[in-house]
Amino acid sequence: MADDEEVLRIARNPDPLTPEQRRRNMSRIRAHDTQPEMLLRQHLHAAGLRYRIHDRRLAGTPDLVFPGRKAVIFVHGCFWHGHGCPKSVTPATNTAFWVEKITRNRQRDEAVDRALRAAGWRILTVWECALRGRARRTMPQVTQGVIAWLEAGLAEGEVSGDWSAMS
Ligand SMILES: [Zn+2]
Repeated sequence: MADDEEVLRIARNPDPLTPEQRRRNMSRIRAHDTQPEMLLRQHLHAAGLRYRIHDRRLAGTPDLVFPGRKAVIFVHGCFWHGHGCPKSVTPATNTAFWVEKITRNRQRDEAVDRALRAAGWRILTVWECALRGRARRTMPQVTQGVIAWLEAGLAEGEVSGDWSAMS
């Protein structure tokens, strides 16, 4: 996952990398065990929840898997997954490249959702902006939201940052 500085650097200086560097960079950015994900895992674990992580047997390799509750959680970076919040603004330069890139990511996310749903899994998306940045929620808030969703048995849900106070 790119941190804010990385996204800004890329936005200011679009694609200065060779395709090979770009590929390596993207795979690094998409790596699991990102800081927001680790933060969420620590708090859920402290709240007594137990889960598997990065189960490659499931479509999309969900970040957290709750087998007994037939539920998975993805922690998504707002920029790369096209959240639509202020953290996911398309760069003003090289716009077509980024629009295509983010559109592909979103299409892949939707295909993963369909595959998991078809296999009976429930899906919660926790957006990066809920966990860090100016719209982040408190960790007790996020943790309680996740627990409430797990216990409600809902098929889908998402936790976003609180952008309502900002205009
Ligand atoms: Zn967001």
